[in-house]
Amino acid sequence: MVDRQALAQRLDAINQRISQACAQVGRKPDEVALLPVSKTFGPDAIAAMTELGFTRFGENRLQEVAQKAPALTDHGVQWVIIGHVQTNKAKEVAKYASELQSLDRLALAQALDNRLAAMNRTLDVLVQVKTSTEESKSGVHPDELIDFLKALSAYRTLKVKGLMTMAVLSEDRAAVRQCFEQLRQCQQAAIAADIAGASFDRLSMGMSGDMEIAIEQGSTEVRIGSALFGSR
Ligand SMILES: *Cc1c(COP(=O)(O)O)cnc(C)c1O
Repeated sequence: MVDRQALAQRLDAINQRISQACAQVGRKPDEVALLPVSKTFGPDAIAAMTELGFTRFGENRLQEVAQKAPALTDHGVQWVIIGHVQTNKAKEVAKYASELQSLDRLALAQALDNRLAAMNRTLDVLVQVKTSTEESKSGVHPDELIDFLKALSAYRTLKVKGLMTMAVLSEDRAAVRQCFEQLRQCQQAAIAADIAGASFDRLSMGMSGDMEIAIEQGSTEVRIGSALFGSR
């Protein structure tokens, strides 16, 4: 059973954190979207969030989306893929995803483009940038980003809307801040490169533990899992 009251309370607390972080730097709370990250939580929790007005949900595994989607067909859920995608999962992305925030290589772009073209659809994408040196984090290296974006413009089914990153997992706020700052610098460079068909308005950065720093650095979208749904 989903504790709807607890869910609503945690949502209030997150909205307060977003408002306070915005107030600190003179931004408006409506400049920062909240993407609920529902990985490991069941269709009932997602359905409860749709009743609170959310339609987009972040997931990091296609297999999990395929398992949950049938129970949610009447809820108008839009799946946002935020985890590493294997090239052989392009078909599932084209089938389920309304958006992909973890595009990090041309082989995946090519495979997606083939599948999307066959389905006669387009896909909104954010390019994931590796702003941390941790082995476990994927993404395009900042030095290679502009060349990557230029190459991406060949794939007409992929609509580039911005950039995404995961900061280093650290207690050192300065180190976390540096990751988000780097994504903002990447955004400036991407805008200056004037790449046909792409826009870079969106910066998806910030999670349960570091959303305030991300908002300070210009996040337009925080991806929140545990602070909303509970610990995994
Ligand atoms: C799990 C996950 C999140 C949410 O993390 P929390 O710390 O639970 O808020 C955000 N982004 C990505 C890419 C994730 O995999």
